[in-house]
Amino acid sequence: MGKTVQGVRGMNDVLPVDAHRWAFFEDTVRRWVRAYGYQAIRMPILERTELFVRSIGEVTDIVEKEMYTFKDELNGEQLTLRPEGTASCVRAVIEHNLLYPGPQRLWYWGPMFRHERPQKGRYRQFHQIGVEALGFAGPDIDAEHIVMCARLWRELGLRDIRLELNSLGSAEARARYRGKLVAYLEQHAGELDADAQRRMHSNPLRVLDSKNPQMQALIAGAPKLTDDLDGESAAAFAGLQTSLRAAGIDFVINPRLVRGLDYYNGTVFEWVTDRLGAQGTVCAGGRYDSLVEQIGGKPAPACGFAMGVERLLALMAETGVAVAEAVPDAYIVRQGDAAVPWGEQVAERLRDAGLAVVLHCGGGSFKSQMKKADASGARYAVIIGDDEAQAGMLAVKALRVTAGAAAGQQEQRRVALPEACEIIKSR
Ligand code: ATP
Ligand code: MG
Repeated sequence: MGKTVQGVRGMNDVLPVDAHRWAFFEDTVRRWVRAYGYQAIRMPILERTELFVRSIGEVTDIVEKEMYTFKDELNGEQLTLRPEGTASCVRAVIEHNLLYPGPQRLWYWGPMFRHERPQKGRYRQFHQIGVEALGFAGPDIDAEHIVMCARLWRELGLRDIRLELNSLGSAEARARYRGKLVAYLEQHAGELDADAQRRMHSNPLRVLDSKNPQMQALIAGAPKLTDDLDGESAAAFAGLQTSLRAAGIDFVINPRLVRGLDYYNGTVFEWVTDRLGAQGTVCAGGRYDSLVEQIGGKPAPACGFAMGVERLLALMAETGVAVAEAVPDAYIVRQGDAAVPWGEQVAERLRDAGLAVVLHCGGGSFKSQMKKADASGARYAVIIGDDEAQAGMLAVKALRVTAGAAAGQQEQRRVALPEACEIIKSR
């Protein structure tokens, strides 16, 4: 036997035991985006590196140290595995002129790639659900996005998630604030870590986003962005807060919230939980009014958010949200020369009737087959011997005893196909 080949560090397999949780999550999300009129868009996983450098920003964690970038040896192109979806989505919108008929509400989902140190809630391949609204100036659409998130948490059965809000203001307001922040950081230069010292002049706002625990006191003392807001951003931020109060959504204003990507402006938000340790941000987003123009499109205001699927699934597990496992309606056991082909026909006819059916394969005694039927979680066993096959019949036996069922319903019964369908469907 050859040496085993391991998976790549930080990139996980989702195993069948967890499949029902992912399926529940995906089904819930699909219903949810439909309820708000968002349309699906699917972008490739590879993009030109330049797209991310120009949109996310050169002096950011993602672009400085987290991107999987390589040269396509066949044509020399610099390519990157997407670290997030907004840049790709905006690129696709511009490339296909999707804003020509008017604003668009879009959503997507899929794997993202960041070369980070793997730990609980932080992986090198992880999944995001992204929602983007392009061509909308807000703040009504910002409120829609937050109300939408709150609904999803309810539908997933999640609690213990708080909303944090901030406004980054306009580019001009940020430039004013930047001056004050740099002065503050220079005063405390001795307390800055290496990242912060490097960024103090190239991208000082990023210092506020530092995860380093030793930096938190210094960050807490920094001047506040919201004290320098321009009139328009301040009005939009107030408008959003009014809508949230009317919708009964609690929030806290966190003046240090800057987001790890450069393209944001105006209102930004994060949904955070204390139940997952250090990786507590489960969803994040905000406005990015200059991004469309920045990557070559006709100027259009926009906003959006992305959520981390692994973190939300972990929070569901942590807070005890139960998800029912999908079980087959029936498991067919069969033995005998006539029973084997008749079993195949029966399986297809039951599936025609909309039932989920597992057909036993691999032979074995009735007893061992019945053990498999039980283990499958199926509600019914369909038992076929040569007797049944010759008569064109089948035997149906309930495997799960249900409270309140009449005694007779639990017994094995020999019936024809239409009646078998009815029995199996009846519960
Ligand atoms: P963090 O501060 O945790 O590094 P971020 O600000 O880099 O997050 P975003 O780029 O805003 O994250 O991505 C949106 C969401 O995607 C995050 O809130 C988080 O739930 C999830 N996410 C980001 N990076 C990872 C990762 N490496 N592994 C798992 N989930 C992630
Ligand atoms: Mg990050």
